[in-house]
Amino acid sequence: MNAALDEDQDQAAGTAMRVWAEIDLAALRANVAALRARTGGAAVMAVVKADGYGHGALACARAARAAGASWLGTATPQEALALRAAGVDGRMLCWLWTPGGPWRAAIEADVDVSVSGMWALREVTAAARAAGRPARIQLKADTGLGRNGCQPADWPELVAAARAAEVAGLAKVTGIWSHFACADEPGHPSIATQLALFHEALGAAEAAGLEPEVRHIANSPATLTLPETHFDLVRTGLAVYGVSPVPQVGAPADFGLRPVMTLQATLAQVKRVPGGHGVSYGHLYTTPGETTLALVPAGYADGIPRHASNAGPVLVAGKWRTVAGRVAMDQFVVDLGGDNALVGDRAVLFGPGDHGEPTVEDWARACGTIAYEIVTRIGSRVPRVYVDSADADAGGSGRQVGTGGI
Ligand SMILES: *Cc1c(COP(=O)(O)O)cnc(C)c1O
Repeated sequence: MNAALDEDQDQAAGTAMRVWAEIDLAALRANVAALRARTGGAAVMAVVKADGYGHGALACARAARAAGASWLGTATPQEALALRAAGVDGRMLCWLWTPGGPWRAAIEADVDVSVSGMWALREVTAAARAAGRPARIQLKADTGLGRNGCQPADWPELVAAARAAEVAGLAKVTGIWSHFACADEPGHPSIATQLALFHEALGAAEAAGLEPEVRHIANSPATLTLPETHFDLVRTGLAVYGVSPVPQVGAPADFGLRPVMTLQATLAQVKRVPGGHGVSYGHLYTTPGETTLALVPAGYADGIPRHASNAGPVLVAGKWRTVAGRVAMDQFVVDLGGDNALVGDRAVLFGPGDHGEPTVEDWARACGTIAYEIVTRIGSRVPRVYVDSADADAGGSGRQVGTGGI
């Protein structure tokens, strides 16, 4: 028998891997389609920053495009340029700039860039002059988030200068946009305040002579719960990956979304131990009696939060177990109680929940964080295995192992 080939086949079947994140691209496409249906006239931007919220930016960008996401969004220009270098075309916006950023490369790659203040406008127009072509810029208003964006008091100066840059042939203002602080808390008074300020910012831009193609403020929670915020474009991140940004309002299925990532591992050890046995660093867990311990070979270096110690839920041998003791860098333990499992059996940390496994939201609750952080922190040491449940339905394997990065 050809051992190398055999291992390849095991890998392809997902059976021999230590830990892996299965990424269902059919689910991602269906989520984009569901978001498009929900937004009616507004276009959908799939936000693929932070390596596609940990799902793999390139594969997710391509799948989102295939499902009709006419815009892609990234935080950094480097993320956008990496997608361009990999052959992803179409409209793309990146918004997190620092002085000396790659403005000219972004202009030459046809990436729309966000401008939050005069310093950025000066840098991007200088780059446009050097490149010999206008930059496509989107002006960001701070309507109350207090993070990036231009304050209302400074907005008239920025829109006037942007209009002057248009007249000089150095820029085209393609968008006016803003970002919510509390869209995930339906009814929060800041939502109406921000919306009113956004309307004012749009009015001032129009009065200055700007005619943006797209006006946008909605993130995933606003897209799902506040239709009056959709304008021309919605910027959806978490919802594209099938995770609920408003767990208190509804689970993914309540919004027609399906989780894209399933995180699994192969048990590396199963053994009987006596009662009173300490487990993992610091002995935060002691076996209450003679029991069976299973070793899950995934740890905080793989993105499993150390806060999941004695708390994180895992499906092993048909039941939910709880992480026993500390999550270490590379591994953690679960106590199977009176049950048994075999080394090589599968542990499912989270997935869509169809087979009784925990969800990303369950992990977020157990770790005192939000679902965004759980998926985004999954590390580069974890292979992303791309599957396509549509292919699977058609009888194909549709399985491809990715590196996790672009
Ligand atoms: C990350 C981000 C989004 C997407 O947010 P979700 O809640 O994941 O949809 C939208 N806009 C900006 C500015 C962002 O930074």
